[in-house]
Amino acid sequence: MINVTQTFLPPLAEYEAQVARAWKNQWLTNRGELVLELEDKLKSYLGVNQMVITNNGTIPLQIAVKLFGRGGEVITTPFSYVATTAAIVWEHCTPVFVDIDPNYLTIDETKLEAAITNKTTAILATHVFGNPCAVEAIEHVAKKHGLMVIYDAAHCFGVKYKGQSIFNFGDISTCSFHATKLFHTAEGGAFFCKDPNVAHQMFYSHNFGHNGPLDFHGLGINGKISELQAAMGLSVLPYMSEVLSARKAVVAFYEQNLDFGKVRTIKIRENTDWNYSYYPIIFESETALRAVQQRLNEKGIFPRRYFYPSLNTVAYAKGTEMPISEQVAACVLCLPLYVGLENQTLQQICNLINS
Ligand SMILES: *Cc1c(COP(=O)(O)O)cnc(C)c1O
Repeated sequence: MINVTQTFLPPLAEYEAQVARAWKNQWLTNRGELVLELEDKLKSYLGVNQMVITNNGTIPLQIAVKLFGRGGEVITTPFSYVATTAAIVWEHCTPVFVDIDPNYLTIDETKLEAAITNKTTAILATHVFGNPCAVEAIEHVAKKHGLMVIYDAAHCFGVKYKGQSIFNFGDISTCSFHATKLFHTAEGGAFFCKDPNVAHQMFYSHNFGHNGPLDFHGLGINGKISELQAAMGLSVLPYMSEVLSARKAVVAFYEQNLDFGKVRTIKIRENTDWNYSYYPIIFESETALRAVQQRLNEKGIFPRRYFYPSLNTVAYAKGTEMPISEQVAACVLCLPLYVGLENQTLQQICNLINS
C-alpha cells in the first residue's frame, strides 16, 4: 500500500542509544537533558533564537490564541488543517475567514484589511504546504491596526524565506513534529517568538504557569514533551539532509512527468527555500479528482484530500462563503511523497493521473 506519506524512522539502534540516556538519567520529562539538547540542536539547525518544544503542534496554537486572541475576532484562513480553526473556537475567539490566493494558496493579504473590525485581536495564518504567506504585507497591516500575527507553520520545518527561517516572521510561529510531518518526534511541536516578553508568556503557559515550584506566573496548561519523544527527534535530525534530498527528487519526478495540461500545482512564493513537504495537485473539477482518486486506490495508492473541507464550511466555525478556498479544497489531492518511493511507483502514479 502506498500512502500519502510514510514516517521516516532512524535505525532502531540509534533511537535505543538515545533512549538509554533517559534510563541512565532516570528522568523522563519536565525538560530533561534530551529535550534541552534537541532544542539547542534545532535552534542552530533552523537558525532561530528562541524556541520551545511542545507535546504537539496544536497546543502552542491554542496557547497563542488564548494569550493574544483574548476572546476577540481572529482573522484566519479557510485553507488549513482543522487544528487552525479549532484552536480559535476552542479558545472562545471568533474565526473571521479571509479567502486565499488561488496560486499560492495562502491567505489573500489584499483582503485582510476589509475583515478588520474593532473586535479583531489577531491574525492566524497558515504557511500552506510549507509555502510562506505574504509575510511583509500581513505584518504591515497588523502593525497598522495593532494586531498580533500568529503563523501556523506546522509544515515549515527548514523553510527559509529571503535567506532566513520562516519561523522568524510574525509574533509567534508554531510547528508540528507529528509523525506525518517532515521532521518528527512521533508527537510533538514547537513555538518560536522573537519578543522576549511574548516568549516568556508562552513559556510559562506551556508549563501550568509555573514560576518556580511554588509560584504561578499565570494560567497555564501542560504542553511539555517527554524525553522519549526528544530521543526520536535526536535520532531523526542527523538524517534531515538525506530526507530533504530524497523528497526533492520525488518532487522533481512529479514536475517532469505529470501532464500539466489538466492539473496544476501550488506556486511557491518567490525568494523561498522550500522543504518539499507536500505535493498538491489541483484538478479542474471534483469529478475529475474523484475519478483519478478511484483509479489510484484500485492500484493500492492512497493520496490524501488535503486540505478538505474548506474550514469556513465546518459547522462550528459559522463562516461565510469563501469561493476560492472551497473550489481549491474540492479539487486538491496531495500525492505520495516520502523517502524511499521508487521511480517505478512514481511513474505508475503519473501515468494514471495523465491518462
Ligand atoms: C499537523 C498540523 C497541525 C497540528 O499539529 P499536531 O502536531 O498534529 O497537533 C496544525 N496545523 C497544520 C496546518 C497541520 O498540518
